[in-house]
Amino acid sequence: MNKGRVYIISGPSGTGKDTLMKKLFEKLPELAFSISSITRPIRSDEVPGEKYNFISHEQFEKMLAEDEFLEHNLYVGNYYGTPKTPVLKCIEKGQDILIEVDVNGAAQIREKMPDVVTIFILPPSLEELKRRLTSRGTDSPEVIEKRLNEALREIEGSVDYDFVVVNDKLEKAVDDFINILSVDKCKTELNLGLINKILNK
Ligand code: 5GP
Repeated sequence: MNKGRVYIISGPSGTGKDTLMKKLFEKLPELAFSISSITRPIRSDEVPGEKYNFISHEQFEKMLAEDEFLEHNLYVGNYYGTPKTPVLKCIEKGQDILIEVDVNGAAQIREKMPDVVTIFILPPSLEELKRRLTSRGTDSPEVIEKRLNEALREIEGSVDYDFVVVNDKLEKAVDDFINILSVDKCKTELNLGLINKILNK
């Protein structure tokens, strides 16, 4: 049995990543998702344990000291981290998993797991990104400004990703994303078992 594949999704806050991922999981219910542990305050539309586990700075630092994270980052004053054990368990049992992290987190994971597939979600333009960040109405102008600056820094990091998906029309972006996962499954190295079986090796 092949191990599960690790797919990384990144993109500045406001690119529509959440909506894209929601559609993705509707179409690929067998794909697992890595729930991050974060210290940012919960937003009104968020459910604990769905995308994030909301924990205190103290809890986070304890997990960090005990080496429980695959990667972690400090983002706009809050910690975000990917717990290691659920990811490893998933791939050991052959299930694919999607991890959402920022550019910094993706680089850390790539170091530890060189065969991850990294996918960056781009907004169609800077103006559209600004519009999406503002219209969400959940953050103060100060936080929006910080998120925009962070977005530009993130987009600079997109050149290190394997793939880029432009989220202009949602359905097209979801199809592009699924096509990337399909192409990944066709890699020769993932099909050596079948090749050898056919050749009776
Ligand atoms: P937000 O606060 O808007 O939910 O997320 C802020 C940023 O943190 C986004 O770029 C998101 O992709 C990133 N992020 C979410 N979870 C993690 C994580 O576990 N690790 C890292 N490094 N970044 C994360």
